[in-house]
Amino acid sequence: MAFTMAMPTQLSRRQLLASSATLTATAFGFDLKAATATARELKIARTTQTLSVCPYCAVGCGVVVHTLGDKARNVKPAIVHIEGDPENPINRGTLCPKGASLKQFVTSDRRLTRPLYRAPGSTEWTPISWDDATTRIARRIKESRDRGFQTTDTQGRTVNRLDNIAMIGGCTDTNEINFLLGKFRFALGILPYENQARL
Ligand code: SF4
Repeated sequence: MAFTMAMPTQLSRRQLLASSATLTATAFGFDLKAATATARELKIARTTQTLSVCPYCAVGCGVVVHTLGDKARNVKPAIVHIEGDPENPINRGTLCPKGASLKQFVTSDRRLTRPLYRAPGSTEWTPISWDDATTRIARRIKESRDRGFQTTDTQGRTVNRLDNIAMIGGCTDTNEINFLLGKFRFALGILPYENQARL
């Protein structure tokens, strides 16, 4: 059996895979477009849709998280599908390969769900409680600030600053979180500040 196809001069990997799948199916007399669309519709039928933002990089693509399950009916909610948000002006429904794997990012059994502590010199990470983690962090911040706070610079000018603690943010931090982080940072006098998102 021979096929003749008009090939574009530049063929992306996605186009090549799609062309191959379509060619194979068409060779057997199937048109997969309708079946693919129906499969997607069945997958997200009855889901709850929640808008969110991909946490991976500074582009900040919008995503739609599809969840099945209803606490009110005693069924544990589960994420069944995550896709690009077609109404988001940043990505208009598209996602890069990392964003397209977001469901695994959320549902992976290797996902960290509790704080881990590695003692100085140790190679082992030990699970600790959230209370323990926040207490340790607060203590370390206090000790570092007591040790590093500068009231004046080398020329005697008042600076009231701290440069031995740094703060970083991520693209999923909301305006409100950043507002509070800013207040916290200025209250302590922290100078180093970075955020991956420059939207
Ligand atoms: S989908 Fe890709 S490009 Fe968009 S925010 Fe996520 S990692 Fe960045």
